[in-house]
Amino acid sequence: MNTNWIKIDSERCKACGLCIEACKHGCLGWGSQINRAGYLPAQIVAPASCIGCKLCLYTCPEPLCITSIETNAQNDSLPQNGDRNAKDGDVSAQNGDSTQKSAKPGQNGDRNAQNGDRNAQNDDSTQKSIDLDQNDSLLKNGDVSAQNGTPRTLRAFMKGNDAIVAGALAAGCRAFFGYPITPASEIAHDAMQLFESAGALAIQAESEIAAIHMLYGAGATGTMAMTATSGPGLSLMQDGLSYMAAAQIPGVVVDIMRAGPGLGNIGPEQSDYAMVVRGGGHGEYHIPVLAPASAREMFDMTREAFRIAFEYRTPVCILADAFIGQMMESLDIPETLPAASDIASAQFPFEARVDATPQTSSHIISTLDLVPESLAKKNDARFAHYDAMKSIARFEYTEFSPNCPSDEAPNAIHADIDTLVVAFGICARIAREAAQQAANAAHKRFAVLRPQTLWPIDGDAWHPYIERARKICVVECNRGMMRADLARFIDETRMYGICRDGGIVPTVEEIVAQLAS
Ligand code: SF4
Ligand code: SF4
Repeated sequence: MNTNWIKIDSERCKACGLCIEACKHGCLGWGSQINRAGYLPAQIVAPASCIGCKLCLYTCPEPLCITSIETNAQNDSLPQNGDRNAKDGDVSAQNGDSTQKSAKPGQNGDRNAQNGDRNAQNDDSTQKSIDLDQNDSLLKNGDVSAQNGTPRTLRAFMKGNDAIVAGALAAGCRAFFGYPITPASEIAHDAMQLFESAGALAIQAESEIAAIHMLYGAGATGTMAMTATSGPGLSLMQDGLSYMAAAQIPGVVVDIMRAGPGLGNIGPEQSDYAMVVRGGGHGEYHIPVLAPASAREMFDMTREAFRIAFEYRTPVCILADAFIGQMMESLDIPETLPAASDIASAQFPFEARVDATPQTSSHIISTLDLVPESLAKKNDARFAHYDAMKSIARFEYTEFSPNCPSDEAPNAIHADIDTLVVAFGICARIAREAAQQAANAAHKRFAVLRPQTLWPIDGDAWHPYIERARKICVVECNRGMMRADLARFIDETRMYGICRDGGIVPTVEEIVAQLAS
């Protein structure tokens, strides 16, 4: 009997006892030593009885407290990714960013090998667990797989917000600055817990205004840094974001959207869309906006956000609604990941500005330009830079036929369809279920197109999908912000919207009723 299916990190345990209750094989019980937080943690008391059902892992509410290591053999026996996350796509994979590639040999080192593995005593080399706060093979991008020839993944059950922090550390993020706000607070909380043990910096700023300017400072030195907030905090950050966009300072800003305006409530909305996608600060600028729809994508897109930020020297926003931030899902993370931090170090120190003068040091970063023609020229260059960013635009397209499983081949077109539903975030997940139900009920074909980037959007790439649809239905948790943008390249007479706000999401039933009518 395998005795090493799961691992409990006693320092993250809050002693709720849910795992002990969930385990029907009596494997878990209470430890004998309190942890640093003052709790008596759960521990494995009868490892030989464990059958690897992972009920404890899925029951534990603490991120990365109970984890398991999956070998290829284990994964083969599971549905792909173990859940519907697989349907929600993997931006990294689509970007040609092979998540299985090893980091440069010798560069990041093999922390597991250096620090040992608590589970080695079980003599099960294929089942060694990652000690996230001490060995950190995930967080350090160490190349364990290449050594034993067995690609493995870390299975965790976590909120989308938790996956953001894991993704940031896996990307090589070295600093977090933030001010907690619901429904984004777990990001600041996790950063305070996890960054220090990964050798990174996490600071609770005195305000969102302070946080965004700390991000500016860190990005200006070539440090991979991140902040996270929700709508009211993002409003305060617009000043700093405008300066970062003007000075081409890289950094990642996470917005877990709540309902507004004003304080509103903590329900999910997508009404920060316009503020982020159209550039909410002063002056005319854009920042790339990624729109994850699962915990898996919260992880992948965070890594991708750092890549884009440093490759294009720009702030990047991850825009997710409260549903995606708060939803708990299983997540298989490859144990070995390419280090996005390699990109950052390749960019540092930044090249001298082309407009450096003898009076200024070439590395001084300033956005002040009192000569109108000169500023206009810089804006020309900025918008030419935005044209080059078109290549990062991503979307996922899926068709739904009556009583037929959807074809998950990436973005495959099969036939003309009745209605193309366009939605992002939680609305896209609801729309997928609605499209299948409507196809069965109305005996028509429907499709869902989910933008994974909200800026840029490549209208030309959408064209083959749009032209096959009789109607376009845009589902969003706001009053039609994205639909207004899509009208730039979609005939408005074919387009209608299903919109909810106030913290309410559209239901499957109401989308089905519209599609099938
Ligand atoms: S994996 Fe299943 S059997 Fe093993 S400790 Fe967890 S709940 Fe118990
Ligand atoms: S469910 Fe998680 S937090 Fe609760 S006692 Fe078990 S390990 Fe600890």
